Amino acid sequence: MELGPRPDQPDDERPVFRESFLTIAVSPGSWPALVLNADFRPLSYYPLSIWSWQDTIKAVFLERVNIVALYDHAVHSPSLEMKLPSVVSLKNYVRPLRQPAFTRFNVFLRDRFSCQYCGSREDLTFDHVVPRSKGGETTWDNVVAACSSCNLKKGGQSPDESGMYPHQYPFQPTVGALHRNGRLFPPNYLHESWLDYLYWDTELEP
Ligand SMILES: [Zn+2]
Repeated sequence: MELGPRPDQPDDERPVFRESFLTIAVSPGSWPALVLNADFRPLSYYPLSIWSWQDTIKAVFLERVNIVALYDHAVHSPSLEMKLPSVVSLKNYVRPLRQPAFTRFNVFLRDRFSCQYCGSREDLTFDHVVPRSKGGETTWDNVVAACSSCNLKKGGQSPDESGMYPHQYPFQPTVGALHRNGRLFPPNYLHESWLDYLYWDTELEP
């Protein structure tokens, strides 16, 4: 199952994101399981943490997960009938990173996959708000998502020189902020048994 770009992809500035990346294709017929941490929160919101039923069954037999909810659908072997899990939780808590990694994926996620100059979601690249030629660094505080045409237009100019100011000035996001943004891009398929676990913590936030 392809879950979109990996966070470990090299940090270059080629346009990679297109609209199609924003919807994670999940086929209901593949009986995917939502994977929760031991605290019953999803491991990840975007891409949503889901496993194929085969990986899920494997994890059940290896006793790495607890089954939280089941599909009605069962798989059979000569000696066994087993309903497929629709939600599982890890037995061992995975501690989330305190600070999100500075990756191209997370920068786009912070900026909601939209150009910070014109709002386009096509042909996203990175822009250094203070250009590298003027000492701008490749950091959370200086890099924004920008479409390739805005990037080209701004070129090596500062915001004042180009008259182009990002809608949102770049900043180091929290893990929670990235999760919130990730929820804006749900996959095309959400089983009803997943819903209790996807949004329950929203009310706890101010
Ligand atoms: Zn743009």
